Amino acid sequence: MKNIYSNILKVNNNNLSKAINLLKEKELIGVPTETVYGLAANAYSSKSVKKIYFLKKRPLKNPLIIHYYNLKQLKKDVELNTNFFKLYKKFSPGPITFVLKKKKKSLISNVATAKLQTVAVRFPKNKILRKILNSLDFPLAIPSANKSSHISPVTAEDVAQEFKDSLKIILNDGPCKIGLESTVIDLTSRPKILRPGLVSPAAISKKLSRKIKVYHESKNIRAPGMLKRHYSPGIPIKLNQTKAKSNEAFIVFGKKYKKRKNIFNLSFKSSLNEAAKNLYRILRLVKNKNYKMIKVCSIPQTGIGLAINDRLNRAAK
Ligand code: AMP
Ligand code: MG
Repeated sequence: MKNIYSNILKVNNNNLSKAINLLKEKELIGVPTETVYGLAANAYSSKSVKKIYFLKKRPLKNPLIIHYYNLKQLKKDVELNTNFFKLYKKFSPGPITFVLKKKKKSLISNVATAKLQTVAVRFPKNKILRKILNSLDFPLAIPSANKSSHISPVTAEDVAQEFKDSLKIILNDGPCKIGLESTVIDLTSRPKILRPGLVSPAAISKKLSRKIKVYHESKNIRAPGMLKRHYSPGIPIKLNQTKAKSNEAFIVFGKKYKKRKNIFNLSFKSSLNEAAKNLYRILRLVKNKNYKMIKVCSIPQTGIGLAINDRLNRAAK
């Protein structure tokens, strides 16, 4: 595809240096991660982090995930515990975010943590982002690179579409490998999953040798992903449907569905991982085609299917 956005840059040493310098100057940049594309800022600088909230129109009470290169850097900011080490060893770097207690001496901006005494931290796997983190002496606050409540971006073009030329640089690493946000697990007391993702409750339960609950509703918004309405294409969505009219978009899963102009298949071969990767791309495509209604077939509620259904439920709110 021809690149019509001049702020989308391919990854080379020159562009990486530019990106790193912008972060040092407290600017925002668009970055790839293995989950979804993100908006990165210096997590130790409130000035820098405020720009994220402003650009995303994100409520200030929604804390951000802080991204680290390694444990050495993390130890300065949060209290680590046994459950953390067990999960870290098995799943990091990768699509899992840990909520931990913030140290008094932590340098993380209070704006980034919405003044909470806890911090959500992640070690991303994407090689380019890891290179960037390794070149900095501060961690990065990185939410998804979309306007608050919109569909998350899974390509550099999606980011450019969201923010036009407000960003100087969006580093292009092609489509995200996973395509859905990380699993978020609260480890500040009895472990509980705040947001489902690729790392499943079963895999976490196995590692911690105890049954882990998935936390659903909360009066206090502890997590942005827990806002009821989120990931929304701005079009009415009906879930668990078996058919759709020709003027409605029908998002389906599996090979029993015919190929038609208005039928969008998340995975013809019934792979939930492939469906996760296609979900936001297809929602965005359908939105851009100006359908007035989206219908979605039922999606198996296992593995990453939990995360897919979680996002669809919020998109449908
Ligand atoms: P996103 O906007 O996609 O980056 O999602 C951010 C996620 O960060 C939310 O879903 C929350 O689960 C999580 N989060 C960030 N900080 C905290 C915190 N201190 N406590 C609980 N969850 C948090
Ligand atoms: Mg988000």
